[in-house]
Amino acid sequence: MNLPTPFVAGNAKRVVVLGTGGTIAGTAASATDAVGYTAAQRGVDVLIAAVPALARHALDWEQVAQLDSKDMDFAAWQQLAARIDHHLRRDEVQGIVVTHGTDTLEETAWLIARVIAPSAKPVVFTAAMRPATSLQADGPQNLLDAVTVASQPGAHGVMAVLAGKVWGAAGLRKIHTYDLDAFSAVHAGPVALVTSGGVQQLSAWPGGEKPLGLARIAPDATRWPRVEIVVSHAGADGAIVDALLAHRDGPPLRGLVVAGTGNATLHTALAASLEHALTRGVEVWRCSRVAEGPVIAAGGHGRIRAVSMTPWQARVEMLLGLLGENG
Ligand code: ASP
Repeated sequence: MNLPTPFVAGNAKRVVVLGTGGTIAGTAASATDAVGYTAAQRGVDVLIAAVPALARHALDWEQVAQLDSKDMDFAAWQQLAARIDHHLRRDEVQGIVVTHGTDTLEETAWLIARVIAPSAKPVVFTAAMRPATSLQADGPQNLLDAVTVASQPGAHGVMAVLAGKVWGAAGLRKIHTYDLDAFSAVHAGPVALVTSGGVQQLSAWPGGEKPLGLARIAPDATRWPRVEIVVSHAGADGAIVDALLAHRDGPPLRGLVVAGTGNATLHTALAASLEHALTRGVEVWRCSRVAEGPVIAAGGHGRIRAVSMTPWQARVEMLLGLLGENG
């Protein structure tokens, strides 16, 4: 398929679109099949060419990975972070768009926010809930909206744009298995809306934190610390924690994030195994499996630190902390 010929007025700044796969690049045998499709089939060049309205933007593009984001891994994170960092350093680049799967978007976006955290430029993730072949394909509009946000003067920080809503990376979570409007953020409404009238900003652009830097995630991907997520639930007896401590294949267990009940509370039997893990040098944090609300650390559970983050983003945070200790 031919690529669009960008029409660029004067010295317009460029947006770089980095493709990583996902349903936005997925195909199905039938246009009415919204479930039985294969993710990560179309190149990012093809996704761009399918949106004629993108021709008025000055775009560069690069295929960084091609995977279903349920299979996201450390090597792909390293590669993506390196390419984002590279393009952000180019003076002529105004912003970055990343096409990604919806399944782990909230993890990748948080990693990028913590490692690179651009203070003056936007990194805008986008995705789709329907494959590119669907009658109801949401990818083309989401891609156009993401490029619109990435081109917006003054926009900065790591965001996700889907279904006309712009979310900051912090607290981002996928909240629906099927709807097109499938994302939300804990404790935060959308940063902006994208309509055919343009970008309507609702709150401050995210970001501003000091980035940890690319070197933090430089260690060989096979040597990253093992950090697992466990859940507290009725009958949680800690056997999974004991098994993880005894596990000998691959990197040893360095950290555990517990998705606790309610206000990050833990079943007494599970808490006993977690205390044992602490004595073995494993870092243990507790957050909540509940969708909304802060974790109010009002004592209890001894040395197990309470964290007001989603379990998935807390795990990324702990990984980054442990990678720092390794260095
Ligand atoms: N499994 C897909 C992925 O995350 C789902 C999606 O993109 O919506 O890559």
